[in-house]
Amino acid sequence: MRTIVFSVLMFCAFQTFAQTYTVQTVPNTKLINNSYVSDPDNLLKPETVDAINRELKSLEDSTTAQVAVVMLKSIGSADNVEFAQELFDTWKIGRSSNDNGLLILYVEDQRTIRFHTGDGMEAVLPDARCKQIQRDYMVPRFKDGDVDAGMLDGVQRTAAIVLDPQHSEDVIGASEPQEADYAGFAIFFSAVYGILFLITFLVKWTSHKFRDSKERARYSYPKQSLTKRVWLITYGLIPALIVFAYSFMDDDSFAMALAFFSLYFYFIGTLAWRLVRVQGVINELLSKQKYFEVADIIKGSQVYWFFIGLIFPIPFFIYFFIHLYRKRFYRNYPRNCNACGEAMRKLGEREDDSYLSESAQMEEKLKAGDYDVWLCSGCGATEMWFYKNSWSKYEECPKCRTLAMYTKSTRTLRSATYSSSGEGERTKLCKFCQHTAVSTYSIPRLEMSTSSSSSSSSSSGGSWGGGSSSGGGASSSW
Ligand SMILES: [Zn+2]
Ligand SMILES: [Zn+2]
Repeated sequence: MRTIVFSVLMFCAFQTFAQTYTVQTVPNTKLINNSYVSDPDNLLKPETVDAINRELKSLEDSTTAQVAVVMLKSIGSADNVEFAQELFDTWKIGRSSNDNGLLILYVEDQRTIRFHTGDGMEAVLPDARCKQIQRDYMVPRFKDGDVDAGMLDGVQRTAAIVLDPQHSEDVIGASEPQEADYAGFAIFFSAVYGILFLITFLVKWTSHKFRDSKERARYSYPKQSLTKRVWLITYGLIPALIVFAYSFMDDDSFAMALAFFSLYFYFIGTLAWRLVRVQGVINELLSKQKYFEVADIIKGSQVYWFFIGLIFPIPFFIYFFIHLYRKRFYRNYPRNCNACGEAMRKLGEREDDSYLSESAQMEEKLKAGDYDVWLCSGCGATEMWFYKNSWSKYEECPKCRTLAMYTKSTRTLRSATYSSSGEGERTKLCKFCQHTAVSTYSIPRLEMSTSSSSSSSSSSGGSWGGGSSSGGGASSSW
């Protein structure tokens, strides 16, 4: 980037010495710094250039019409009309669909001002009107030697005419249908989805989450996961086929809409299928009266369904609340005593304290988790279930096994530098047994900031819109 800016600066500097311009040597400032004014010889004051740029920027924003202002000391013996036409063709000013471009060319040594209009501008700025603007607003000031006032007045007058609502259709043209491009959609979708697909596949593969994985992760329920082959077909092949299938349609925007809805409903289908598989596992556990496991499965997928609810609000935003309800429902699901078969009752938070160890009470107090105590009405047996709070900062104490250990303090032993990593010391304390554990950790080496430190004044270039001209316009000399 810096090289480009540098060469552009060199180019401009060089141009100030070579005062005769050809079409190829006029700096195309629209591409360089998105300026509508190309004034390599500084014939205008910077504030005039700024004012013209503001005017023309707001003109393009509201009408899409593009006006280029080119101020040159000399074009040698070249004819200003031919020069303007050639420059217009080279830069392609104005939108290609309706050629709403205008080139205003000022040549100092020829003492001429030329308005060169794109085909779509001729209705708004017929040659006579161009001539009138030049005669009334520009030439008198040029004669007085006030180039700045003449250019600014002329540009403002021109912009006012183009902005006139009664010309809007001429300038903007019949509203252009959005150019739908199915290939672009397919490439964009494939890129975004492909990355997500690859990441998900690698994560599942390395953590053995596929049903046919040889080392399945523990505590998972095989029936709710898919084999690697079925997963690849479901999330890879079929979406790809859907996107591919619509590429044969003639109407791109219709194909895009259909592909979008097909994919949307297809993925909703895959999610519904997942719910069905999970429900199968839940039903199996329910038949074995494993209510804790059921609540645990539902709790484990809570974050997953939250995000699905955000991506597919219809219908999964609503499902998320059902999910939360189901978690509570199965946690409190009526159950019978393993020993005598009588109904059990879940004790309230105060009531269950007498059945909990001090360590468990501490865990509840620290909100590291929640104990449910169920009491049998027949034989007085109790069952206890622990629901860990996954957001808790407490971890298990290696000494007393209570979830009561937290990081009390950290301090830096040796700061990291650009050449070496540092070292820190972490002190953990168990709130239950007061056990203290001190460990060291390393602080990564500092890295040089990679963000570019180029000057803040750098600006990105724009572009002309691809418009063409058949040579309409007017010139004035003085
Ligand atoms: Zn019992
Ligand atoms: Zn402890």
